[in-house]
Amino acid sequence: MYKGQKSIRGGTEDFLCPFTDMYITQGSNGKYSHKGIMANDVRGRVAGIRYPYYAPCKSICVKTYKESGQVMWQSLSKVRFANGRIDYATYMTAHDDTMDAYIGQIIEQGDQLGNMGKKGNATGIHCHIQISQSKDTSWFKNQYGNYQFNNEYDLDDCYFVDYTNIIQGQGGNWKTTGKVPVIEISGKEALDQIIHPGSKVMFDGIFSVDIIKRGTNLFGNTKLTGVSFNTYYNEKAMPYHWIPLNDWTETDKYGNQVDQDDIVYGGESYVINNNSYIVKEIDIKTNSAKLILNNKEIWIFSTFLKEI
Ligand SMILES: [Zn+2]
Repeated sequence: MYKGQKSIRGGTEDFLCPFTDMYITQGSNGKYSHKGIMANDVRGRVAGIRYPYYAPCKSICVKTYKESGQVMWQSLSKVRFANGRIDYATYMTAHDDTMDAYIGQIIEQGDQLGNMGKKGNATGIHCHIQISQSKDTSWFKNQYGNYQFNNEYDLDDCYFVDYTNIIQGQGGNWKTTGKVPVIEISGKEALDQIIHPGSKVMFDGIFSVDIIKRGTNLFGNTKLTGVSFNTYYNEKAMPYHWIPLNDWTETDKYGNQVDQDDIVYGGESYVINNNSYIVKEIDIKTNSAKLILNNKEIWIFSTFLKEI
């Protein structure tokens, strides 16, 4: 990234590569001080120069280690990583000889975070960087004696390299924001529309009342359930494919509310449902979701639900 660079899509900051020029001298799980950890040592274009680096997202200083020029930073909000995950970032930078960060200090995305340096056990001027895709600030020694976070990801899964000149990328699968498209609706990221247990959903559409189960307030709809009219008609449909009418409103076939005579006719009437429901279970094979309507379990195709 360059100084002052910002990247926000769908109301979420993209986590950017803090370096303008990136020459990786030691990659993740390296033979030396990176054994068992996901960390990179990065120098700039010319070896031996204390190049500045910038905040990959709006960050707050949560821990400092003066003797090694080391700072633990955390994003103030969830950010978007290069692997598409959206979560908090907790990350460590090290070896800054000029380090003057203090706990509680807030740095805006694109503002200077520090300078490459040699402080601590560094062999040459560089920035050591290590990232957890979580809010967990635990920092502990692994079996090789190297410090690490929980939930560390390799750096190419963490930052976007828009406007970073990669001189030595160590074969990483470096991605720009263009590789992780975001669908925005009025400045907010659209929901993924992947329905899972716990999703809050509404019915999406106008549905015909194909049949009423005699003597009940249950109706059948072939589109919602995939059950044929004949199966309904011959009373062979499973109980969970009969839908209670209680939460539905009668409309015409364009969805306009009609005079409520409270009588809905099989094969004639149309209904909509403006209530929201929580998905109880999903069945991936049939792409169906289980909902509870009026205390009754029903299974319907997820295609006719929208996540809200
Ligand atoms: Zn290192």
